[in-house]
Formats: sequence, C-alpha cells, structure tokens
Amino acid sequence: MREKLLHRIASYPRIELIHRPTPMRKLAAITAELGGPEIWIKRDDLTGIAFGGNKSRKLEYILPDVLAKKAEVLVTWASLQSNWAMQTAAACARYGIKPVLVLFKTYDLPPEPDGNILLDRILGAEIRYREAAKGKIVTQEFALAAANEAAAEYHALGKKTYIAPVGGSMPSADMDRPLGAVSYVDAFAEMLAQTQAAGFSPNAIVHSTGSGATQAGLLVGAKALAPQTRVVGISVSDEKEPFAQIVWDITEALENELKLDPVAMREDVLVFDEYIREGYGIVNKEVAEVIRRVFTREGIVLDPVYTSKAFIGMLDLIAKGFFKPTDKIVFFHTGGTPALFPNRARLMEFLD
Ligand SMILES: *Cc1c(COP(=O)(O)O)cnc(C)c1O
Repeated sequence: MREKLLHRIASYPRIELIHRPTPMRKLAAITAELGGPEIWIKRDDLTGIAFGGNKSRKLEYILPDVLAKKAEVLVTWASLQSNWAMQTAAACARYGIKPVLVLFKTYDLPPEPDGNILLDRILGAEIRYREAAKGKIVTQEFALAAANEAAAEYHALGKKTYIAPVGGSMPSADMDRPLGAVSYVDAFAEMLAQTQAAGFSPNAIVHSTGSGATQAGLLVGAKALAPQTRVVGISVSDEKEPFAQIVWDITEALENELKLDPVAMREDVLVFDEYIREGYGIVNKEVAEVIRRVFTREGIVLDPVYTSKAFIGMLDLIAKGFFKPTDKIVFFHTGGTPALFPNRARLMEFLD
C-alpha cells in the first residue's frame, strides 16, 4: 500500500513552488509548560512562495492542470483577506497566467491594500469585490455565479479561462479532480519521514480546517501510512455538520483519484467547531493571547484567522483530556500570517 501510494503521488505532474521538506521541530517550551503531551510543529507556513502556507502545496498539483488546459486567465473566489487567493495569484504570476480574484467581504475589514490584499495588488491581480454575510463563507452557487460572470467577460475577449474552486478543495468548476487534497497526502508522508527520523510516529495531527482538502489529504495519508494517527480538524468557519460531510466527500473523491482501496471511514473525520467562537476571521482576546503566547515562548507567529484558532482548540482539547499526556501531537502551521496586519486594531485592543 505504502509503496503503491507514494509511487502514485510521485507520478502526478507537479510544479516546484515550495521548499521541501518544510521544517519540523518540537515546541519544547510549550510542551514543558503543559507537562505533556509532546507537541511538535510542522512549518507549512514556511513553504517559501509569497509568505508561505498550505495553499502553495495544493497549487503545485493544481497549476499543471491549469497549464495543461492552456488557460490564460485563472478565476477564483475567496474571502477578502484570503491566503488561497494571494498564493494562487503569486503562482499564476510566475507562470504568466492572469489572476482574477472575486473577493467576498465576510468580516469587518475594509478592502484596503493591506495584508493579503496588498500582496494581491502588488502582484497586479484583478480584484472584484463582492458582499457576503458577516461571519459567513459565501455559498458555492453564489460564488460560482460571480466567477462565471468574470470568466464570461474574458471568453468574450477570446481568452481561455480556468475557474478554480475556493481553497483548491472540492473538485468542482474546472478543477475536476481533488488535486489540492493530493498534495496533503504527500505532506503527511513528508511529515511521517521526519517524525520517524526523530524516533516516533505521531498519535495525532491537529490543524485548522476551512475548505476541507488539507484534512482529507492528511486523513488519507494517515490511514494509508500510519493508521494509529488521528487527524483532528479545528474548523474556523463551518459547523461540524455539514462540514464533516464535505471533508468526507473530498476524502472519497481522493481515494478514488488515487485508485486506493478505501482506507478512511466516515467516523475518522474529526471536526471540532467550538473554536469558531464569534465567527470566521473574528479576532477575540483568546486569539490575541495565543498569538502572543506562541510568539514569546517559541518565536513562531500564528495567524489570527486559522492557526490561532486551531492552537486554541488543541490546548483546550488537551485540557479536557482528549489527548493523553504521553501522546505526541504534530500541529500543522498552515500559514496565513499576512492577515495579522489588517487585524492590528483588534489585536492591540486585547494586548495593550
Ligand atoms: C486555507 C487555510 C487553511 C484551511 O485549509 P483547507 O484545505 O481550506 O481546509 C488553514 N490555514 C490557513 C492559514 C489557510 O489559509
């Protein structure tokens, strides 16, 4: 199974966007403070393109599909300060593809050139702002309609377009295969080689989950390569149900794509939605404090939308006894740090 799976993944066309392996180390100070479990961090915030993050792994597998389909314009959608949109724009720019970003205003941030929007603007991405309900991710149908409208304008100019789904997750629009999720099976294998070199196999992975492909990829990687490893997704936007079903749908599509006999089961999809708190992207005191804690103890900067909430969730699950004190946990830092800056006012309100 292991050899077959790794061989299959290695056969995918992939462009080189990231430095691999991304670093991994123990969070020694925080582990000591807690007195166990042992927490390690996988630095997927240091992938290397733009400011790094999980989306750059996905794009290594998605861009070859865009190139194979000879697209000149890539249209995608996301929320205002989206890491996906920025990383996609950066990858497209490198390959001479024009990025068109439909960005939804989901929370109380102005569309100013700050954080990821500043980076989008420096890259010269075309941005189309749209409204969405506060604290909510827009529905797929609504977003797709806006993306289709943008693509139609380019078609009328004779351009070939590719519409990529938000987060590169659910096979849909022009990405008809779960290519983003494939990259996180690869990431799991990369991490497992590192933990094995360090002399252990993790009991659990904890990560932030948003559109589902990171979780689906890690889950399939875990089930195929180290079945004792639980994959724990901390949701930042969607309620456990129906979100776990979305992860499951991507998981099934991924197993099918990889021609694997099914390895995961529906109940293996572990999603916690308690840590969404006030809503997607809303910075509160807990968020500000955990960013300060990890930064001061470990020198590592979490982001205010995804990884801070995942870290809060991990600490709370430890406190509640969900993990054993002897467990070894790998926390995936999935990136997102540019969003710190447009959130400066809220962060300072809680830290001053
Ligand atoms: C997109 C994103 C996630 C969630 O990944 P999904 O594959 O969309 O679930 C987590 N962390 C950061 C920083 C992200 O940008």
